[in-house]
Amino acid sequence: MQAQPPFGQPHILQNSVVVFSKNYLPLARINIKRAIVLLVTGQAESLNFGTTKQWEVRSPSIVLQVSEHIRLRVGNPERHWKVPPVNRREVLRRDNHTCQYCGSTKHLTLDHVIPRSKGGQHTWDKVVTACEKCNSTKSECPADRLRQRLSHEAGMVLTTKPKAPIHPAVAFAEQFWSAQRLTEAE
Ligand SMILES: [Zn+2]
Repeated sequence: MQAQPPFGQPHILQNSVVVFSKNYLPLARINIKRAIVLLVTGQAESLNFGTTKQWEVRSPSIVLQVSEHIRLRVGNPERHWKVPPVNRREVLRRDNHTCQYCGSTKHLTLDHVIPRSKGGQHTWDKVVTACEKCNSTKSECPADRLRQRLSHEAGMVLTTKPKAPIHPAVAFAEQFWSAQRLTEAE
């Protein structure tokens, strides 16, 4: 069943809704239209935490109360998530399309923190996004000085320690709860 566009209430459709798993873990923020489909098809139910906002969505055939928090009635669909492969697209996404040495967002390449020719590994904690400039500065550095340079000398220090991406639901849950704490502190 397709949710009908609720005529005359276009502003409501700009809201978003947080989906919780069957076990009440916040999973993701989704567009209200997707939430309506989940509610109407019975795949989810509205949650009410007391302070939860609700919107009334009307179509020619139904009136639906959509809460800003909904809970899936079935098991977590993301349970089978796996760590993505180490490739250009995934590494750039993890690093927010930013050079991990200087913060540039232009001319990005993949950089093996220790070059593969010198025994560096192609794993999540050894591969980062780097701009061409930083990449070539690094490759001009003599092999025996590279490790020292990476750890001590100015300009070639990684801004964050590279690690494998975490489960999107875990990442979302961390972000959700820290936002809730901020709201409560206000
Ligand atoms: Zn750079």
